[in-house]
Parts: sequence; structure tokens; C-alpha cells
Amino acid sequence: MNSLLPTSTAGSLPKPSWLAEPGQLWSAWRWQDDELLESKRDALRLSLHEQESAGIDLVSDGEQTRQHFVTTFIEHLDGVDFETRQTVRIRDRYDASVPTVVGAVSREKPVFVEDAAFARQHTDRQLKWALPGPMTMIDTLYDSYYGSREKLAWEFAGILNQEAKELEAAGVDIVQFDEPAFNVFFDEVNDWGVAALERAVEGLRCETAVHICYGYGIEANIEWKKTLGSAWLQYERFFPLLQRSSLDIVSLECQHSRVPMDLIELIRGKKVMVGAIDVATNEVETPEEVADVLRNALRFVDADKLYPSTNCGMAPLSREVARGKLNALSAGAALVREEILTPAI
Ligand SMILES: [Zn+2]
Repeated sequence: MNSLLPTSTAGSLPKPSWLAEPGQLWSAWRWQDDELLESKRDALRLSLHEQESAGIDLVSDGEQTRQHFVTTFIEHLDGVDFETRQTVRIRDRYDASVPTVVGAVSREKPVFVEDAAFARQHTDRQLKWALPGPMTMIDTLYDSYYGSREKLAWEFAGILNQEAKELEAAGVDIVQFDEPAFNVFFDEVNDWGVAALERAVEGLRCETAVHICYGYGIEANIEWKKTLGSAWLQYERFFPLLQRSSLDIVSLECQHSRVPMDLIELIRGKKVMVGAIDVATNEVETPEEVADVLRNALRFVDADKLYPSTNCGMAPLSREVARGKLNALSAGAALVREEILTPAI
């Protein structure tokens, strides 16, 4: 385990084809009941092993036991009806058929805690676990009960806090909240988005992270990015508030993105997971390309707070490409680590 520039991924990794249809989001499971449970666990163990082999320092479950980073969590909650579906515009970008909030939302039992305990048994490395953030959850639902996005966010934050505390107790070292919606709804982020996130991490002793990206490498996101112009300034809109928040780590998209690197200055003091791997292309980065992004980031973040990572999840990629990208991330981080540790002559 490298304590300097520890590597990680933003979240999901491709699933084996014997578990689910490869190459897509929301792909159907190939098994049911006990066989599905066993297959998911096998895949989780394999994913940990692959991350370790690639030299990833802070490992994750690779989201092997969930179909989707938001919907799988919501499926386990009361008050959400998956039969009554409505078409909504997700992150103001693409239409999707989503479930409806029909009553008070609550978590009857833990969602990922058993999976986390299982993962904990199978790796000695630091374990990071991703949960959806409150705002991103709301944006993936139709609400016919609360009539207020803020109110529903607050309910979800309380539920996420329960889950996060149990993940911590199961041995998770870093709980991460995925909030791609932060890059779209700036007024809400400032009004209540960051506050809801702080509610979700209240009382946690483990480290906490928020991942804010420009989405998976799917067509709708690639088209959206084309409309954002030559400098992506979204982060600038809420970084000052995040800098003052209780979150420990901020996870960002930097490789091949048009985010001006100096925006990182706005979260000075936080640890920064710098996305040095593009998840929207099958081309595997060279270690030197990874190192370039990290060196650039080092101008705005202290070395002991730089965490090399991926731009986003890699679920839609092939396993071979994802493996190549994990290796490139490790090799690129190793280059920069050596530069830092070798005193200049
Ligand atoms: Zn992401």
C-alpha cells in the first residue's frame, strides 16, 4: 500500500459476462436467488483481486453487486414504487423511466452492509464504498409525495447516514457519495445540496468523499460535454462551499476534461481524488499521460493530499480495457511518486 499518492477508482468496474450482460448500464443479471447471491460474491472477490493485482491501493467493491449506482440503493427503500414509473429528464440531459416516491421514504434494513463486510474479509487494503448522494437520488426519481426536492433530499440524507454508519462499522475506511447532479443544479447545491451531504456524513469517524463528475462515457453525456464550451467551469460554482464543508475528499474528472486545473485551488485543504483516467474512451492511457495530469494537479494540491483516480466508473467498458486502465493508473502514479521521493540534484 502506497501512503503517498494512493490510487483508487471512482466507482464501478465491468462485471464478468457470466454475472451480467457486459458493455452496458442497468444490464440484467444472469442468475436468480441464491445463485445470484453467490455469483455476485464471486465477482466481488474477483474484482478485489484484480484491483490488487493492478496495484490499486484503496480498493472498492467495483459495484459488482449492484445493477446501477443509484437505482439499486433506492430499490431497497420503502416509499418508492418501482411499478409506477414516470419519464423524467435526468440531470437535464436525457429521458429515463424512473420509479415514483409514493410515501414516506425509509430504510427497513441495511442495503450494502453485508457486501461490505464480505469485501472486508477478502482484502487487507483500505476499502472505499460508494453510495449515491441525496441530490443525485432525487434526480433519478419522480416524487408524488413530498412535493419538495429539498425535503426529499433531507430524508435521503438521514437514510444514507444510517447506511454509512453501518458501512463504517463493517470496516469501510472511506465512504464516498456520488453527486454528478452537483454539476448541473448549482442553485440547489448552494441552497441545500452541500448541507444535505453534510447531514449524510454526520457523526462518521471514517473518511468521507464526494465524487462529482461529468458522467459515464455514454452517448448522452458525450453530447452534453460538447455543449459546455472550451472551459468547463461547473466546479467553480460550488467549490467554495465544499471547501468549507466537513467532507474530507473531493473526487474529480480531470483526464481529457476541459476543467481548468487551477479550480482545484478553490478546495485547498481537502484531499483530491484526481481523475487521471478517461472512462469515455477505449484507448488505454500511457503511464506518461496519467503522470502528466497528476503533475499538473500537483501545482494546486499538496502531494500528501493527491489521490490518483479515474474520472468516473468503468462499468460500461470491457474488462480488458478496464484492466489496462487500472495498470496505467498505477504505473503513472508510480512515476510521479518517484519524482517526489527522489530529491532533485
Ligand atoms: Zn462519476
